[in-house]
Amino acid sequence: MQFENTEAFACQLDQQDELRSFRDQFIIPVIDGRQQIYFLGNSLGLQPVRTAAYMQQVMNKWANYGVEGFFMGEEPWLQYHDRLIQPLAHIVGALPQEVVVMNQLTVNLHLLLVSFYQPDQKRNKIICEAKAFPSDQYMLETHVKYCGFNPGDVIIEVAPRPGEHIIRQEDILQTIEEHKDELALVLWGGLNYYTGQLFDMAAITKAAQAVGAKVGFDLAHAAGNIPLQLHDWHVDFAAWCSYKYLNSGPGGIGGAYIHERYHNDTSLPRFAGWWGYDKATRFLMQKGFNPTRSAEGWQLSTPAPLLYAAHRAALEIFMEAGFDRLQKKRQLLNNWLWFLLDELNQQQQEPVIEFITPRPENERGCQVSMLMLQNGKQVFDELAKAGVIVDWREPNVIRLAPVPLYNTFEEVWQFTNILRQILQLQLV
Ligand SMILES: *Cc1c(COP(=O)(O)O)cnc(C)c1O
Repeated sequence: MQFENTEAFACQLDQQDELRSFRDQFIIPVIDGRQQIYFLGNSLGLQPVRTAAYMQQVMNKWANYGVEGFFMGEEPWLQYHDRLIQPLAHIVGALPQEVVVMNQLTVNLHLLLVSFYQPDQKRNKIICEAKAFPSDQYMLETHVKYCGFNPGDVIIEVAPRPGEHIIRQEDILQTIEEHKDELALVLWGGLNYYTGQLFDMAAITKAAQAVGAKVGFDLAHAAGNIPLQLHDWHVDFAAWCSYKYLNSGPGGIGGAYIHERYHNDTSLPRFAGWWGYDKATRFLMQKGFNPTRSAEGWQLSTPAPLLYAAHRAALEIFMEAGFDRLQKKRQLLNNWLWFLLDELNQQQQEPVIEFITPRPENERGCQVSMLMLQNGKQVFDELAKAGVIVDWREPNVIRLAPVPLYNTFEEVWQFTNILRQILQLQLV
């Protein structure tokens, strides 16, 4: 599509947008009477209008039935988990039995490593991204120590080459090949939180499994953002959080995927709890752990219907919008943003922005990370004052992620217009 940098063109794109009414399904933040341009769906997705009512239903049921809420009424809490699985399986490209909703992301990664990282003296190395999200780094460091290894000896980080910002696919594959005899696990992010780089998960999986290693993905920034095919890619395991692109509320309940080929393998080590016990006989409360033969067999604790309710409200909207339509709009919205930012950057006397997000469409999702070459922090502060919610990552990056469910083409246009005005100020 041939874009034009005018407000009229932005409005036209919004009018042509089949998904434009979905914005009304969300509560857009208003600060000091001004509706914000909210571009942080990658950090905390906005609250759907229906979420409060869904959570209230759980509150009412708790009030009316007490513990019987698990079994009674229209939607017994015992069955609530099942309602989340279909939409999630669709979003991550898995079979329904390969998906479980439980805990939170970092907790789930630890639990999955118990099953999928079984180091011995020969195979004990883990390949991961340099500068992975801190929680993933701490998780790996402490998990490896717990297994009796020295993190410095077994964790191998793949970094961008000097002077570059994104990690080259060939370097990932090369590192896998180099360590093929000692490699136990590749734990990688689907989409990097800092740069917005989307990785070729299918290729990474294939390469790692070809040398006999397991492969897991942290999908915090991928789930609900870009299309995933975990099952077809033959990924061993994955985990994600629900509060970023999945709009299920701060600290919302996490999710995990475990390929079906592991479901009947009861010899696989795991940390168990009663909720992972075979569903049909769970309440017989017998001695000896007998797992449910699906991803649900990795559950530990009593489910949280309040968090399920928030998750369900958000997932329903995804299904109503349709994932394919969301993907189309995501690409158009993102291309529109790149078009406007490129033009703005080219109009400056010297470039003020270096884009560290990869430019090819199949290497990025909603997010654009702008490395600010001058006065970055002041630009960020001015954006906030002007009602634009983006974020700042030290030392000099502004991240923003317009999302197809509730952001508009007009907002993207307004944002670049505001940014242009800020760049004309005499910042010191
Ligand atoms: C957001 C994010 C997390 C957060 O983990 P929680 O356990 O939900 O706090 C972890 N990893 C990555 C890559 C993230 O982007």
